[in-house]
Amino acid sequence: MSGSGRSEPPPAPDALPIPVVDNHTHLDIARDGSELPDIQAVIDDATAVGVPRMIQIGCDLASARFTVDVIERYAALLGGVALHPNEAPRLHAIGELDSAKAEIERLASHPRVRVIGETGLDYFRTAPEGIQAQQDSFRWHIDLAKRTGKVLQVHDRDAHEDVLRILSEEGAPEHTVLHCFSGDIAMARECVDLGYHLSFSGTVTFKNARGLRNALSVTPMDNLLVETDAPFLTPAPHRGAINAPYLVPLTVRAMADVLNVDVPALCTALAANSERIYGRW
Ligand SMILES: [Zn+2]
Repeated sequence: MSGSGRSEPPPAPDALPIPVVDNHTHLDIARDGSELPDIQAVIDDATAVGVPRMIQIGCDLASARFTVDVIERYAALLGGVALHPNEAPRLHAIGELDSAKAEIERLASHPRVRVIGETGLDYFRTAPEGIQAQQDSFRWHIDLAKRTGKVLQVHDRDAHEDVLRILSEEGAPEHTVLHCFSGDIAMARECVDLGYHLSFSGTVTFKNARGLRNALSVTPMDNLLVETDAPFLTPAPHRGAINAPYLVPLTVRAMADVLNVDVPALCTALAANSERIYGRW
């Protein structure tokens, strides 16, 4: 990190007593001009604090190809591939969406790709003229997850209502994960009733995230997952630093506080949920 002008990486938190999975991370995204992380070092740092397994998520063609490459080389990683809700309208506009879908479908057939995602809706970053292509792409990814029997990971930014509506219109895959869950209590209850999994990121530790903590507090442990969405969404007290899977324990401990359960019990549930839906590593 020397010479980058960025402060030192946050120190390693205390290790978790039982290993858990980082359900959603981006090992191919460097933030603000920083260097791409060395993957073995990321895995080693995370393993040292009880996070020995992670799911690498590829969001565009280059990233999906990267994902298939690294899941073949690192036993700690499983993968997810998709065209991100912000990528699909861009490809549609230049006439390349159909060929991109064909390649995603081909990459998705890899036995260590266990996730179709992240797909979904992002009304924060997409202009009105891109919404139709985004919704069509979401529907296509839902269908792909069902045809391949893989887990659907959904990105939902400022689009709660349409995400739930389209999932119900299409029929959600057997295992559906709302990645970086951002809804309120009512939405959490609705998702739990539908059998979805809610994956919480570092945002649950943010001071202003009371509504999100309330949503977490009503979610049964069987429906919970944890993730970093690294390099983004770094948990408190390191908000703003570069995130990485070794910081998952901060989020897990904050979740245990909110749920009023002990950390080993939560870790056991998180690990079991990940294995149940993604299969063996
Ligand atoms: Zn992500």
